[in-house]
Amino acid sequence: MKEKIIEIKLLLSTPKNIVIVPHRNPDGDAMGSTLGLYHYLKMYDHNVVIIAPNDYPDFLKWLPGDESVLKFESQQKESKALIDKADLLFTLDFNAFHRAGDQMANVLEASDAIKVMIDHHQQPDDYAKYTYSDVSMSSTCEMVYNFIEMLEDTEKIDTNIATCLYVGIMTDTGSFRFPATTSRTHQVIGNLIDKGADNSQIHNNIYDTNSYSRLQLLGRAMQNLKVIPELRTAYMTLSQAELDEFKFRKGDTEGFVNYALSLKGVIFAAIFIESQQDHIIKISLRSKGDFSVNEFSRSHFYGGGHTNAAGGRSDDDMTTTIDKFISILPAYKQQLSQ
Ligand code: 5GP
Ligand code: MN
Repeated sequence: MKEKIIEIKLLLSTPKNIVIVPHRNPDGDAMGSTLGLYHYLKMYDHNVVIIAPNDYPDFLKWLPGDESVLKFESQQKESKALIDKADLLFTLDFNAFHRAGDQMANVLEASDAIKVMIDHHQQPDDYAKYTYSDVSMSSTCEMVYNFIEMLEDTEKIDTNIATCLYVGIMTDTGSFRFPATTSRTHQVIGNLIDKGADNSQIHNNIYDTNSYSRLQLLGRAMQNLKVIPELRTAYMTLSQAELDEFKFRKGDTEGFVNYALSLKGVIFAAIFIESQQDHIIKISLRSKGDFSVNEFSRSHFYGGGHTNAAGGRSDDDMTTTIDKFISILPAYKQQLSQ
């Protein structure tokens, strides 16, 4: 990337139509990185727009610039027109077009804009002219910071950029505790605080905005928790009926799976969440150590992600999905009982 940065610098030296895209069901890192880059590019004479494949949770809706984000799902015509006339297309926090959802993936694929990928997920596709992919990175937000640094422009980082990038580093590292958190991550965070990120307020905005019904839903998920001690595995389920009972809103189940992983001795955790609308069971997988949930999800549940955090789905009903999950586990007995 370092060699290519001169070319990118040249591209950015004249006004461009720029579209920035996060993955579908955007999380803190996806919105933090796209908005951070958005604020940075807006400082120059570019036409910049973020097009999210679909909506994201309310706990991200205070981020500076949030009001300008288009949603492909509900604003297809406008979004498509902007992608079609884009000179530059940044794809952030994902590395395969299908992660934007099937419909948007087709539009991205058809675009002849110059594509730039900034991402930290494993096994990137080869669609971008400029690929900045590093699976050792804590977050895409840390990479956007590096990108601005490579452009020798860190003095341009203002409170808005700092706030957005802080959010994604914080959420993707589980508040600076997952193994990908390095001293460099903390140095970047320190710089972002110096540039105006209000760390205490940001934590408050993201984590302390629970609704009563979300905590009740968490209670139900905890009651549904099952443990398979000999395989050091724990999993929980939430049916559509349970989601409805507790007035589920997007983002409410974020982080639930980590409680399963916090059980003493457990190194593999899963949550299965029914989505009647999509006719699937959405699966979130987490692990500790070398057991790769990326590989597990790719092999069995049409998904992927990182070694210790991945997502996937099942087209079967809940009972069949859980039966399948349990029947697969013994094949991993050696890795799981280490
Ligand atoms: P989550 O369980 O929080 O939805 O996702 C965990 C991690 O895996 C995130 O980094 C997310 O971007 C990634 N991920 C989630 N679902 C999928 C999927 O279907 N495919 C791939 N490749 N990555 C996913
Ligand atoms: Mn990320």
